[in-house]
Amino acid sequence: MNDKTPQILDGRPLKEAICNVLSSKISEKISVSSLKILPTLVIIRIGNNEASKTYVKNKIAFGKKIGGEVIEECHDENVTTNEIVHSIQIHNTNNSVHGVIVQMPIPVHLNQNEILNAIDSKKDVDGLGESSMYNLLVGKPSFIAATVKGILTMCREYNIELESKKVLVIGRSLIVGKPLALALINANATVTVAHSHTNNLKELVAQNEIIMIAAGKQNLVSKEMVHENQIIFDIGINRLEDDQLIGDFSADARKHVKAYTPVPGGVGQLTVASLFENLVEAYLKNS
Ligand code: NAD
Repeated sequence: MNDKTPQILDGRPLKEAICNVLSSKISEKISVSSLKILPTLVIIRIGNNEASKTYVKNKIAFGKKIGGEVIEECHDENVTTNEIVHSIQIHNTNNSVHGVIVQMPIPVHLNQNEILNAIDSKKDVDGLGESSMYNLLVGKPSFIAATVKGILTMCREYNIELESKKVLVIGRSLIVGKPLALALINANATVTVAHSHTNNLKELVAQNEIIMIAAGKQNLVSKEMVHENQIIFDIGINRLEDDQLIGDFSADARKHVKAYTPVPGGVGQLTVASLFENLVEAYLKNS
């Protein structure tokens, strides 16, 4: 057990600070522009996933708060890939739209790659298209996936050094694990990636200084696996039967580490704020 009280890496004040910065940037731009166009994000939501509806609601609320506009475009569960791609192409050519995202997950019959790649890279504010991913791979400036950008912001704001640190990323999805691992390598961390076929997770957790967990498996990292010098970024979100949200890091393990992000109130707070940082960047560049 840790003698010192672990530090809680709270995402809320950072989200608030980003909100204020973005509001000021938008007001400034509007005050000098003759067209008075607001930064506009189109969110394409497909089907009836309840969690997705909540995530979109949060994005709309944040967009309003900073003085931007968010358009939710809803599609039926049975929509085709072609129909979504066609709709994206229309937004690509609309100068008053600065960002287009597709709320994940999408129904399995759809071609996710084709849909994400249809988004113009200048409007790919979720950073999930091939062009944005390639830029991340080669270390070129680009929109970075919002969750990853949020984690980098947390590290910067809480003075968590990544250079030469041993970091374990648990999860290898396109949305979190893979771009996170690349961003950490670009930040000069020594990165190990674990996933569902990894046999020695316990050993890997013990060997690393910073653990970033994005598996969506509650209690995946427990108190027996961690030690008092480790920093835990809990990215996982698991919804319990009573609708309570918990992460992948066991609650009773929190007091055994140096610092951790709570769920809720940690990384998730920064995900929405980072998406709008990308949107405002696109708006300032392209309007
Ligand atoms: P995903 O299901 O696409 O990927 C999960 C990954 O975890 C896979 O790569 C899989 O190999 C790995 N995994 C599963 N079981 C494992 C195990 N036992 N050991 C090691 N690795 C294992 O999910 P995702 O989209 O990457 O999201 C992961 C989690 O992060 C989910 O809970 C999701 O809700 C959450 N999430 C949170 C935010 C946020 O803002 N906080 C954003 C995106 C996703």
